[in-house]
Amino acid sequence: MIVTIDGPAGTGKSTVARRLADSLGYEYLDTGAMYRMVAFHVVSKGVSLTDSSAIEAVAEETQIDFRNGDAYLNGTDVSGELRQPDVAVAASMVAQIPRVREILVQRQQEIAVGRDIVCEGRDQGTVVFPKARCKFFLTASPEIRAERRLGEFTSQGKKVSYDQLLEEQNERDRRDENREVAPLRPADDAELVDTTELSIDEVVERLKSQVQS
Ligand code: C5P
Repeated sequence: MIVTIDGPAGTGKSTVARRLADSLGYEYLDTGAMYRMVAFHVVSKGVSLTDSSAIEAVAEETQIDFRNGDAYLNGTDVSGELRQPDVAVAASMVAQIPRVREILVQRQQEIAVGRDIVCEGRDQGTVVFPKARCKFFLTASPEIRAERRLGEFTSQGKKVSYDQLLEEQNERDRRDENREVAPLRPADDAELVDTTELSIDEVVERLKSQVQS
């Protein structure tokens, strides 16, 4: 059984997906972390974010594994490095390249084989698991999304400004919604959930009752 949760940054997707998976006894797949891993690998190798063929080559040699909730890139735990705002922006750049998407889509499908799993990202319901029985698309206003992300960073002791986050978020939204391959949009059969006025618990409950109905 596959549950997909898609939507832009700051809608609470990751937290909701993780909690929903926990409460259903399902596994959880953070596909954004996979794009972030490729981006992190590209930047660490000193490859330019505008050099598509060099990025494709890096993606081919990026081995991605998740163990106990941690993200491993070619055997090294890089979970801590992936959450930085600059890695997010770089991820949205590599995510525009069709070959990069092809590689990661295939890896996502392999990971999900035979599992009960909640898969979270931008294209899970539209491209990766079009036959999933339960699909959700979370939305919220851009301002509330940036506020939530600011809260997250601040609680981790990281210094970022609201304006910087909102600007970075708008840039990513624009890129994700307008790219040629798998642009961010809800699947036709996805349930839209506006989380602007809802707590995380309320969203999880709503999704859980839907999955169990
Ligand atoms: O979800 P997260 O913020 O970690 O995603 C980082 C970036 O990776 C997104 O802005 C998007 O460009 C890309 N992404 C994607 N498809 C996915 C997941 C993430 O294109 N399934």
